[in-house]
Amino acid sequence: MTMTNKNTTIEKQGILAVENLHVSVAGKEIIKSVSLTFEPGKVYVIMGPNGAGKSTLANALMGNPQYTITSGAITLRGEEITSLPVDMRAKRGLFLSLQYPTEIPGIKMSHFLRTIVNNVRGEGQKLSVLEFQKLLEDKMKQLQIDSSFVKRYLNEGFSGGEKKKSEMLQLMLLQPTFALLDETDSGLDVDGIKIVAEGLNCARRENPEMCIIVITHYIKFLDYLKPDYVYVMQNGKIVISGTASLAQEIEQNGFTKLLEKNKV
Ligand code: ADP
Ligand code: MG
Repeated sequence: MTMTNKNTTIEKQGILAVENLHVSVAGKEIIKSVSLTFEPGKVYVIMGPNGAGKSTLANALMGNPQYTITSGAITLRGEEITSLPVDMRAKRGLFLSLQYPTEIPGIKMSHFLRTIVNNVRGEGQKLSVLEFQKLLEDKMKQLQIDSSFVKRYLNEGFSGGEKKKSEMLQLMLLQPTFALLDETDSGLDVDGIKIVAEGLNCARRENPEMCIIVITHYIKFLDYLKPDYVYVMQNGKIVISGTASLAQEIEQNGFTKLLEKNKV
């Protein structure tokens, strides 16, 4: 197959691809040659011990400037996006829900949400205050969020569950094609996990083409999500690839045993 054919196929299928990616943080190489492809409509899970480089990979995909791609490429629908800034990636349908969302006192949720939605929509497609209000109410209803919620300041004094609700609301409003969730479920009780899982499933019902890439430690979360592929990362590399049953194996035996077993 020629290169042109391959690229055309990737473009047609709307794939997000990572090829031979190396990423450094604060001068230290963290990601050491990762190659992965993400297809629309599929659910991917990335697991692995703390410090493996999972968040680094997510940040590099989203274009966080603190994470330097030293070699390799990221392509989206055949277009190379390796050096595009965060906002340009967001415009192309990438979304990252952070492990630790920041509190921004003084900025009302509703104002923040309209700003990000209009930034992603771009000139000529921006929503008026009223149009946005209608959309927001519709999404809040779907997520069963009380209207007083968006009158508060962004993440200020939010409980763990409320922060996640805020992330899910962003996701519902932005309708990304590639939703990256970095331990969105961490520190949540069972109800909180349900909020996130139901939010994701709600977004998927609206947009079945959405690809979900989840970084998580919790098998319970995977019960709701039903992943298509599971990857285990260690020392900046993908060391094991599998399907949902791999996650079960990790839960039963832990990483150490599994990594031992798969040692080459
Ligand atoms: P994981 O998400 O798998 O727990 P991370 O990607 O957060 O792993 O971290 C991998 C390594 O990169 C760790 O050694 C961590 O200290 C380092 N690292 C990640 N982000 C930063 C940063 N912003 N500044 C300095 N070091 C970082
Ligand atoms: Mg992390």
